[in-house]
Amino acid sequence: MGAVDATREPAGATAPARTATEPVLSVRDLVVEYRTDAGVVRAVRGVSFDLYPNESLALVGESGCGKTTLALALLRLLPKLGSVPSGTVRYRGRDGRVVDLLSLDAEQLRRFRWREAAIVFQGAMNSLNPVLRIRDQIRDTVRAHDRGMSRREIDRRGREVLRQVRLDPDRVLPAYPHELSGGMKQRVLIAMSLLLDPQILVLDEPTTALDILTQRAIVDLLHELRAQLGFATIFVSHDLPLAAELADRVATMYAGRIIEIGDVRDIFYHPRHPYTTGLLKAVPPVVGDLPEITSIPGAPPNLLDLPPGCPFHPRCPYAQADCTAAEPALEPLAPAAPGHRAACHHTDQVTFERRPAAGRPVAAEVNADG
Ligand code: SF4
Repeated sequence: MGAVDATREPAGATAPARTATEPVLSVRDLVVEYRTDAGVVRAVRGVSFDLYPNESLALVGESGCGKTTLALALLRLLPKLGSVPSGTVRYRGRDGRVVDLLSLDAEQLRRFRWREAAIVFQGAMNSLNPVLRIRDQIRDTVRAHDRGMSRREIDRRGREVLRQVRLDPDRVLPAYPHELSGGMKQRVLIAMSLLLDPQILVLDEPTTALDILTQRAIVDLLHELRAQLGFATIFVSHDLPLAAELADRVATMYAGRIIEIGDVRDIFYHPRHPYTTGLLKAVPPVVGDLPEITSIPGAPPNLLDLPPGCPFHPRCPYAQADCTAAEPALEPLAPAAPGHRAACHHTDQVTFERRPAAGRPVAAEVNADG
């Protein structure tokens, strides 16, 4: 997303969504591996985080950092060559019962998906079946996850969710995907994800491949839907301005790990991991003077052959001798702000401050100050 609305306050800045004390999702020490011809690739390496009801968490990082793999693993949607050798993913239902998603059998999983958690896959252009009308795709989706609904009930629900995403059901239901614009297809996918009223919505790059005005409309729509329906969201994105607008908290991933996590203001105003600061310095502004834009040198590491110690050290301007000795753990940065954590041996030396102008939203700062 190239530009964001400079007048909009991010959801987390005005009204923190974390009103419940119990997380809806608790991920602990999750490991995901892929079998490849070259060996076993550990794409997610011991990730832990909580997601609270109605909260929006963004997973950000470069391609290959593990963010999409993590999202797929949460819903047990990994491709055949992927596996989860260890870790837990505990989900708390609306009735308070907690289940470990990794222990569900196929039938339990079928009922879990869409009713409790749904996903909007990356790429609106490719996620719909090109030879089925939208009406039939909605019917198939509901039947796959809820065998108790009649066709009439499904059609009524389909019309309802299409109206919620501001589409005309009479126009969209009989249409094939090629008869819809990219923005309409993305709205259809969001509507389909809401069919069974899930508690968690996972969105993988929800605005990628859309033009700037359509991106704006989708961002506004997601804000409205979350406020209306109260679901929690996990956004997977490489787009920091999008994260600034949509997230209450942000987790930066690198080499399969969360290397910094915190409130959206912690991450954008006071980042303490050199990789997060590198990402922020690489975002070009769309208003104000053009500051120096710097990219992060080098390339993401080969997951089959990680550098010793901190995997970011070959690219890190703050690297010191001890950085190659041991991989840093994700630790709280201050007792007063236990939610802001970073995995770096030298967070005290990282200099990056974005001055929060009074009343100015985070998204505007990201764009204005680069
Ligand atoms: S541990 Fe060392 S190499 Fe890793 S991010 Fe911190 S300063 Fe850089």
